[in-house]
Amino acid sequence: MPDALERASSVLTLDAIVVGGGLGGLYALHRLRKLGLTARAFEAGSGVGGTWFWNRYPGARCDVESLEYSYAFDDDLQQEWHWPERYGNQPEILRYIEHVADRFDLRRDVILNTRVVSAQFDQAANLWTVRTDTGVVARAPFCIMATGNLSTPRVPDFKGIENFKGKWYHTGLWPHEGVDFSGLRVGIVGTGSSGVQSIPLIAKQAKHLHVFQRTANFSLPARNAPMDPEIEQRHKSEYSERRLAAFDTPFGIAGFPPPTKSALEVSEEERNAKYESKWAEGGSISFLYSYTDLLLNKDANDTASEFVRNKIRAIVRDQRAAELLAPKDHPIGTKRLCLDTNYYETYNRDNVTLVDARSAPIEEITAAGIRTSEAEFEFDAIVFATGFDAMTGALKEIDIRVGNGPALAEKWDGGPTTYLGLMVAGFPNMFIITGPGSPSVKTQMIVAIEQHMDWIGDCISALKARGMRRIEPSADAERDWVRHVNEVADSTLYPLANSWYVGANIPGKPRVFMPYVGGFAGYKRKCDAVAANDYEGFAMSR
Ligand code: NAP
Repeated sequence: MPDALERASSVLTLDAIVVGGGLGGLYALHRLRKLGLTARAFEAGSGVGGTWFWNRYPGARCDVESLEYSYAFDDDLQQEWHWPERYGNQPEILRYIEHVADRFDLRRDVILNTRVVSAQFDQAANLWTVRTDTGVVARAPFCIMATGNLSTPRVPDFKGIENFKGKWYHTGLWPHEGVDFSGLRVGIVGTGSSGVQSIPLIAKQAKHLHVFQRTANFSLPARNAPMDPEIEQRHKSEYSERRLAAFDTPFGIAGFPPPTKSALEVSEEERNAKYESKWAEGGSISFLYSYTDLLLNKDANDTASEFVRNKIRAIVRDQRAAELLAPKDHPIGTKRLCLDTNYYETYNRDNVTLVDARSAPIEEITAAGIRTSEAEFEFDAIVFATGFDAMTGALKEIDIRVGNGPALAEKWDGGPTTYLGLMVAGFPNMFIITGPGSPSVKTQMIVAIEQHMDWIGDCISALKARGMRRIEPSADAERDWVRHVNEVADSTLYPLANSWYVGANIPGKPRVFMPYVGGFAGYKRKCDAVAANDYEGFAMSR
């Protein structure tokens, strides 16, 4: 029986419902249309773009090079689009996504300003019913979650935040009209990628900027620059080959020759010369690819970590600040490695002060500013670059359940479980794009999105070709995959860091390693083999 809300509102009957209108949701719509299926995407924002719609903070820029960070599904698109810089900034990437939405006429199937609140599967009817905060309801046999991995911004539960008399912002929910910090006393909390990118630009505007750092992060120079026409031309002439070659790499990006030596089998002189050239070249993959074992062997990693710490000591004049900025609590690369433009140099400015929020934690936001256990600071504006409830936050916010069974959020109470990051046992016909247990966040995200959605599209076609209506992974397949994800992570240095990969940034979140770090190539081979092997580990039914 339809409920009152449903009767009062429109009900869309579709072949598939997509949740999210970012890079994943848009490609899902395109792919489903190619299959001749009707679909709509619900998007909470007032525009398409997901991450790139919301994260408009100063300096927001992708840390994957622009010629790579783009869709591969249409050669005319990749040939015609011109990226003005080596790394795309937020306005440029959003312009690109909007162009894709227009070019492939996707906007007519995106319902904006609409947040999905629940998704319920009716076993008898074999239908997902998705309800939204505007009253629009949709029904379809398939539901595709394109909800993103870093889409639930989080401001820590600081006492007194409601009393602050100035204005405060979260980097992931930045005002569209921008913020002018000129002449203002500004405090920024957080030194992850968002902090590292925005601090140099806010410092240029603000009267004074106080940076509250709890944990120092490694950052490498991006060496952003205007696009070199020769590089662009060469890359475009090789696009198809490069995209194919990317499938055989750990990160989904071609062009980085795999390392052949351990960092420990070469002399210190040779090692430092290599690190020096990578530092000059810019970018994180190239640096971490210097040797075979930087993410596997602590002694090997120490050589790279110490190289970067010495760079920080050389750049930052105040040696007390330099030591605070030089990370010592995790091996380089085990937290997302930041890329920056003049981050460490910014601490040489007279109007920037580094505050150690580790030895003197933030205790309260006061009417005037921030009070730590040692001092009170007065601000006109506070920026929270405090990150996201990563990988599971957006899905757990939706009340997803099958019949009257437990919600997905309950099933995931002890950490997320999936088979291949694509589906969850007990939740039939619900697919996740770049879900926990997939390599997504450790790869070029758009390669992962396309690979996932192509697999999902093929899976739906295979189901239909067999006259089947339902698919879900077995509990055994899910358990084995989760075990494999953990075993692979445990064979690396990643678990040594308190990162959002393990949920460490959210108090109370179970410490579970969420991304698959076995590399894109092996993961894709596994997905392809599962499909070729009659969807091994999945049960199909009528
Ligand atoms: P993040 O990496 O999770 O960093 C959050 C920062 O806030 C950390 O420094 C954290 O310190 C600090 N923090 C949190 N709670 C705090 C508290 N109570 N007191 C003091 N400090 C506190 O978040 P993010 O910078 O937004 O980046 C998240 C991810 O988004 C990145 O890792 C990356 O994958 C992606 N991203 C990418 C780009 C890019 O492509 N260039 C740019 C931005 C973001 P602790 O470390 O001590 O917890």
